[in-house]
Amino acid sequence: MANIGYGEFETTEGGTSRAGLLARLERLLPGTTPAGTTWRGHHLPLSSWRWTQPDGPVLLAGDAAGLVKPMTGKGIYYAVATGVLAGRAAAEAVRDGRPESAGARYRSTVRTLLGRHLRHTATTARLAAAPMVLAAGMRAARRNQRAFDDLVEIGLGRGLLTRRVLTGLVR
Ligand SMILES: Cc1cc2nc3c(=O)[nH]c(=O)nc-3n(C[C@H](O)[C@H](O)[C@H](O)COP(=O)(O)OP(=O)(O)OC[C@H]3O[C@@H](n4cnc5c(N)ncnc54)[C@H](O)[C@@H]3O)c2cc1C
Repeated sequence: MANIGYGEFETTEGGTSRAGLLARLERLLPGTTPAGTTWRGHHLPLSSWRWTQPDGPVLLAGDAAGLVKPMTGKGIYYAVATGVLAGRAAAEAVRDGRPESAGARYRSTVRTLLGRHLRHTATTARLAAAPMVLAAGMRAARRNQRAFDDLVEIGLGRGLLTRRVLTGLVR
């Protein structure tokens, strides 16, 4: 079995329909798609400006919680970080004899860890949708190692849009 990530602008000819994706894959790897009759695909549950988790004892972490980086499709950091927080919230709720309080405890700790970062990530994704801004970001990263590090931290961890990055974009 193979699990393959595929990035595509929604404006691409053929869009993200099954037929469009198969046609483009056939162009990239001729002869592969006739065997792909049982292939399935789905959109990644990309994170947005605000994250939420209902009250109660059921806790969602990682991809299941809609925590996937909107620019890169990456989610390992979120999955590990929220998995740890979910485990702690569940253990504390059980220890206190109030399992139904797990949701509220978990929501609060995830928002403390990721709330600000998710707002910055959502803003970065919006900005990067403009090719001019994306190119300016690349140039800023090339000029300044620390701006590069900041962008990597946004793309892989829980970094924020720093003054260094913003200054680099404006220049
Ligand atoms: C091709 C590809 C490349 C990627 N590259 C990167 C990368 O470079 N960096 C990065 O950060 N992220 C990357 N990602 C994303 C990353 O893999 C996911 O965000 C991350 O694995 C999510 O972890 P998770 O624990 O939330 O979910 P998963 O890793 O999907 O784990 C969920 C588990 O639940 C199991 N499961 C599902 N249903 C049931 C059920 N009913 N009963 C029991 N078990 C069930 C599944 O089999 C699976 O093992 C990539 C994803 C893909 C597909």
